[in-house]
Amino acid sequence: MKLSELQNHIKSFDHAPDLPEHYFLKLIEEVGELAEAIRNGKVGQPSLEELKGSVAEELYDVLYYVCALANIYDINLEQTHDLKEVLNKAKYNR
Ligand SMILES: [Mg+2]
Repeated sequence: MKLSELQNHIKSFDHAPDLPEHYFLKLIEEVGELAEAIRNGKVGQPSLEELKGSVAEELYDVLYYVCALANIYDINLEQTHDLKEVLNKAKYNR
């Protein structure tokens, strides 16, 4: 799945343009859960039975709320990636 497809998928059922603070706080909550998963060592690609509380699940949750926030601000993350690549190549000389 492309990032733009993920953004569109999330927007189709979870989009509240008037509540950016809600999505931001959820993002921070998920970052905390990611930290806990890393500390607990639940790494690697889990099976469905192992997914709950794993780094994989919490990384996805973080990505979910990044996409939801991007949707609120009408930001296409794929286009942003292309622009940042230009800036980063110049900044880091790569
Ligand atoms: Mg989570």
